[in-house]
Amino acid sequence: MTTTPKPSASAPETDIYERRESIVRSYCVSMPRQFVRASGEWFYDENGGRYLDFLSGCSSLNYGHNHPVLKQALMEYIARDGVAHGLDMHTDAKADFLSALEGIILRPRGLDYRAMFTGPTGTNAVEAAIKLARKVTGRELVIAFTNGFHGMTLGALACTGNASKRGGAGVPLNHVAHEPYDGYFGPDVDTAAALEQRLSDPSSGLDAPAAILVETVQGEGGLNVASPEWLRAIAAIAKRHGALLIVDDIQAGCGRTGTFFSFEEAGIEPDIVTLAKSLSGMGLPFALTLLRPELDLWSPGEHNGTFRGNNHAFVTAAATLRHFWAGPAFQEDVRRRGEILAARLARMAKAHGLATRGRGMMRGIDVGSGETAAAITANCFEQGLIIETSGAHSEIVKVLAPLTIEDDLLNAGLDILERAFAAELSPTLGVAA
Ligand SMILES: *Cc1c(COP(=O)(O)O)cnc(C)c1O
Repeated sequence: MTTTPKPSASAPETDIYERRESIVRSYCVSMPRQFVRASGEWFYDENGGRYLDFLSGCSSLNYGHNHPVLKQALMEYIARDGVAHGLDMHTDAKADFLSALEGIILRPRGLDYRAMFTGPTGTNAVEAAIKLARKVTGRELVIAFTNGFHGMTLGALACTGNASKRGGAGVPLNHVAHEPYDGYFGPDVDTAAALEQRLSDPSSGLDAPAAILVETVQGEGGLNVASPEWLRAIAAIAKRHGALLIVDDIQAGCGRTGTFFSFEEAGIEPDIVTLAKSLSGMGLPFALTLLRPELDLWSPGEHNGTFRGNNHAFVTAAATLRHFWAGPAFQEDVRRRGEILAARLARMAKAHGLATRGRGMMRGIDVGSGETAAAITANCFEQGLIIETSGAHSEIVKVLAPLTIEDDLLNAGLDILERAFAAELSPTLGVAA
């Protein structure tokens, strides 16, 4: 098997993008190629160029591109005229997904949730979660955290920290308090204790919250990791103060941290969980809000949408659960690869006096500035590696390789990253490839 990327030199020859696509576009600006095919860990461009994918659609392709098992399941379903779209009517595909979710994910973990199929993007799952929390508790305030990222629609955007994203709203983003995340003031300040103190003080000015909304690892916000102890403290605070605990597992879930849900390690049981990104496993849009059955106080159609549940995604999502999650082998593989990734990133960081971030297969290196991080990712792209940044200043070089990646390809991509670090951070040493 080949492990060497082969980037091509030229940008697309068409100016159709300049002419007709809004300049809101972003990834294609730093990766100006026209891709025609993608398989497993690889992207292919129109000139026969080959790129190793360490972005995985921002963790929406945890099982790689066009995984043969998922592709086969979808092709068979389409070939027999399986229902593609039926609003939220019952279909065999929906029943099969729910059965797989119940049998493979929920029951073995002792979790009891109902699945609410929202509109197909992550932000819609978050909207549903916070709407339900406000409805159930009769309270308005949602507590979110510094550097949190929850989506671009107004409710979810209000919970998002990033100023440039918030600036796009054009209206006030209300009814959310952004409290300091674990480690925000450094290792010596217990931000959970500070939150508890403020919520317990009737004169602190912090209203009783409907929900506490948290990512266990902040995917877009810089790969900050909440400790299991901090997560347990936050869960206890939510309970004590009558707020619902919502874990936004859209990026960190579906195996990215090594277990199906990212909160399993902490042993907490959120009231509501949001999933999207890698849920379909094929890059098909599909989002889910899981809620404790007692919270299911919606009236029918109250949170509506034309595309609630996606039958093609039901088929591929059920296939991911059966193929990857029915036994322990895949999780063990992911954990082992996460350790390879951790060790190699630690070595790179140490060589340049930098710090690593993240957990499982979502890890990166803080290079101190967005400019340096952009130079490193651009250098990687020139070598045929697709990789992106994260963080308040885009200062974290972030590895989101497919969870299924072969060890030799993981190492090949990390070799490229290592050369890019050497070239951009120690140019005088002349270590560039
Ligand atoms: C990507 C993401 C979202 C938003 O999902 P979209 O599908 O882009 O709307 C929400 N929360 C987290 C943690 C995410 O990473």
